[in-house]
Amino acid sequence: MGRCMTNQRIVVVEDDAIVARDLQRTLTRWGYHVPAIAGSAVEALERMATADPDLVLMDIHLRGEMDGIAVAEQVQSRLAVPVVFLTAHSDDATLRRAKVTSPYGYVLKPFEDRELRIAIEIALHKHATDTRLRRLERWLNATLRSISDAVIATDLDSSILFMNPIAENLTGWRQAEALGRPVGDVVKALPDEADPPQPNFLSQAFAGALDHDLIASGRLVTRHGSQVPVEYGIGPIRDDDDGPILGLVLTFRDISARLETDRQLRYFALHDVLTGLSNRVGFMDRLATACERAKRNPEERYAVLLLDLDRFKIVNDSLGHLVGDQLLVEIAQRLRTCLRAQDSIARLGGDEFAILLTDIADAGDVMRAVGRIRDQLSAAIVVGGRDVFTSASIGIVVSAPGYQVAEDVLRDADVALYRAKDLGQGRYVLFDSEMHRRVVASMQLETELWRALERQEFRVVFEPILSLQVPRRLRGFEALLRWQHPTRGLLQPSAFLDLAEETGLLVPVGWWGLRQAVEALLAWDREAPHEPPLTISVNLSNRQFLQPDLVEQVAETLVTLGLAPDRLCLEITENVIAEGEAALHKIKGLHDLGVQLHVDDFGTGYSSLNLLHGIPIQALKIDRSFVDQLNRPGSSKGAIVRTIVLLAREFGLRVIAEGVEDERQAMLLHELGCDCGQGFWFDHALDAAGARDLILRSAAVEG
Ligand code: C2E
Ligand code: CA
Ligand code: CA
Repeated sequence: MGRCMTNQRIVVVEDDAIVARDLQRTLTRWGYHVPAIAGSAVEALERMATADPDLVLMDIHLRGEMDGIAVAEQVQSRLAVPVVFLTAHSDDATLRRAKVTSPYGYVLKPFEDRELRIAIEIALHKHATDTRLRRLERWLNATLRSISDAVIATDLDSSILFMNPIAENLTGWRQAEALGRPVGDVVKALPDEADPPQPNFLSQAFAGALDHDLIASGRLVTRHGSQVPVEYGIGPIRDDDDGPILGLVLTFRDISARLETDRQLRYFALHDVLTGLSNRVGFMDRLATACERAKRNPEERYAVLLLDLDRFKIVNDSLGHLVGDQLLVEIAQRLRTCLRAQDSIARLGGDEFAILLTDIADAGDVMRAVGRIRDQLSAAIVVGGRDVFTSASIGIVVSAPGYQVAEDVLRDADVALYRAKDLGQGRYVLFDSEMHRRVVASMQLETELWRALERQEFRVVFEPILSLQVPRRLRGFEALLRWQHPTRGLLQPSAFLDLAEETGLLVPVGWWGLRQAVEALLAWDREAPHEPPLTISVNLSNRQFLQPDLVEQVAETLVTLGLAPDRLCLEITENVIAEGEAALHKIKGLHDLGVQLHVDDFGTGYSSLNLLHGIPIQALKIDRSFVDQLNRPGSSKGAIVRTIVLLAREFGLRVIAEGVEDERQAMLLHELGCDCGQGFWFDHALDAAGARDLILRSAAVEG
């Protein structure tokens, strides 16, 4: 054996001083350090602490009270230092006593140096390994105790070998009680979805885990019988990567907090936080279910009531959002009381609620629900210290075979609701096939409208405007839009204009119409010159008026086409004037261009007369409805027309009467002071060629 480089410290306990000295010399030669030699038990115990040995060579036979075995016991337990016994005694009794101290080796005297050295090296090595293992074990224990998962280890027969504190808390068992018990006694788990629950579920899982790791969730039944949702894993402990299985380790964790979070997230996804009712998503979910059921069995009828509170905006704006919220909560509460167990209610947003009635036998069920709702809402609601009275408009849809998806049902309820609101407050409207037809028609119309522009199906026709003073003279034309529909023939604006405005199409069509009108006027100038020059009146839709570049576009049209600005009259509505500063700014801009501005349908809009003050307009057009009243017996006989004319005079405006249908009206209007008129009495709207012929004819008469 070569020289040992260890420099490990060995204390020698030997009462024979010569032997001790001899040992020291030998050990030192081998490279060990001998910090102390003790000749007795007392001396050994005294010197041990300061000597700080890595190993003790201990003679069993020592003179005095204590022998080497007794000293070894103390050394091992206090200092965890390995002891190698040196002894001449090898009687069984002594050896048994020595064994209790778990010595690291025996060397029988007399011994050879070789034997001693091997015994020392083995002892040192074994002790180092033991220390490492002990540390590892402590480290592992601390880890298992500090992780948040419960851990239970078992042997191959599923008897418990270990459980960490979390496992103790979760199961309600102490490790001390659980050790050695079958794991199934301590960990009782129910699978998530098994019905009826399988009590031996875990044992099966354990059997399965011998082959592969298993991760699943279930419910843990604690020692006290309560259930905790857990996620667990079971895996084999192997001696080696693919060596034999020594046991199983079961880890599990309480997932109730996570499940609760999941539950809350699901709740918020489907509910309205303010009222606690379902939200739109939740409602559509239920409606879809009802829809599917009705598709399978038309007898399973349902109805949707869509409610919109009347005047809610007023409450919200005047009393504040907090009061508005309280009102919504109270209304949700009241609506809830109107429902039967199988019905559901949701707040779709704002002040809109939806109710799904299922299992309805007949229309009576629906009407009774509506009655209950109206009753509930009719009583005053006290919010913010005052009584608020509210009512709701209700759109109703009853299930019908045609409904494929929930969205269609809600869309029709919406249509009915709109109708209800149109009728006034607190009304309800049942969606019917006629409405459905109209919805479909308007959707189709919308598609066709957008194509109409590129397919050049729009036309402009011209209605003559004449002075009312006899002999009546042609003054100009109003350009009016028509749609040459591919199948339905020539359509009047009433058939498509609102939709065109709503969808924004009227803006491009309006610009197109303006060009057409101006070009027509210029063509007449060439083919049928008129003195004084005629004007062309063009209607501006509200949206067109709102275009930011309105003034520039008008200017550009005039410049590129080459028309004197004062020959163009733009007809705007009263409502536009009431818009405020921005509108006024545009009106001034147009006025500065030199075009004329006429207020259309005067007297039917929102504007008040004093708005006219300071606005650069040139004429008012009296709406057809007022002209109509002129010959109706018992009516105020033109009182309104007279008022409008007086007002116009005051502001220096001209007055043009619309819808003149007979000579009596024409004369009366003239007497009342109207400057011009237009209407079927004079002529219907003409196409450009017809208008040209009219100009030629009237020039001949006037000339
Ligand atoms: P409006 O500007 O008040 O046009 C006058 C409407 O009264 C025209 O209807 C015209 O045909 C009709 N009318 C004329 N004389 C009589 C009459 O003696 N008796 C009766 N019962 N009706 C008469 P139209 O062409 O159907 O136009 C309806 C409305 O459509 C127009 O009302 C106007 O507001 C709008 N509109 C028409 N063309 C255009 C356009 O190119 N652009 C814009 N933005 N609106 C247009
Ligand atoms: Ca007009
Ligand atoms: Ca008009």
